[in-house]
Amino acid sequence: MKTIGLIGGMSWKSTVEYYQIMNEEVKNRLGGLHSAKCLLYSIDFEEIERYQAEGQWRKAGLRLGDVAQSLQKAGADFIVICTNTMHKVIEHIEEKITIPILHIADATANQIKKTKIETVGLLGTKYTMEQDFYKARLESNGIKVLVPNESEREIVNKVIFEELCLGNIQQSSKDDYKQIINHLVDQGAEGVVLGCTEIGTLINSEDCDVPIFDTTVIHAAQAVKKALE
Ligand code: GLU
Repeated sequence: MKTIGLIGGMSWKSTVEYYQIMNEEVKNRLGGLHSAKCLLYSIDFEEIERYQAEGQWRKAGLRLGDVAQSLQKAGADFIVICTNTMHKVIEHIEEKITIPILHIADATANQIKKTKIETVGLLGTKYTMEQDFYKARLESNGIKVLVPNESEREIVNKVIFEELCLGNIQQSSKDDYKQIINHLVDQGAEGVVLGCTEIGTLINSEDCDVPIFDTTVIHAAQAVKKALE
């Protein structure tokens, strides 16, 4: 089994999910007392969130690059960045290491391509919904991506940073998300990408009339698959 290097803490709430899913997945695949071989470097999210808000993406990328380098030195065979948003700076991270990074959007696209779904709705931070680093990666895999309108994006983003990253689950936010998902479905979304690693703590498949693609579950499961190859 290869050793998975996790860049976590963005937020720690979703990193907990990664750890749990990866270990469950190894247990399911190998049985017995097997568990995931992994190294976790959990950073202080306040620092990264400030870089995001100030548009200091290069600084954030260099910081995460140093983290990835530490993980490589400690023995990681490949890297998993436990957030969709910070894949925006993947080039800066890659510059600092020689081991591969398992891209969350590629993992998600692979999962979508196993279905007949051609058009998905994308929920995530405003950076993920509005900028090209993520959408274009899905689209280059032949998947059409719809995002919520401006006021809906505002709500989705606010709930992520002000509630979900703090572990605060509100029924009113769940209702808002369900309404936004329904709106995307009305516009033609055949599935919904939970493109932020905390959204799965608020929304599950029972909340949606179409299949969901939870990037945390998909990414963690594909990390295990890669570790066992
Ligand atoms: N975990 C989130 C994501 O998947 C948001 C936190 C961040 O901005 O990195 O995008």
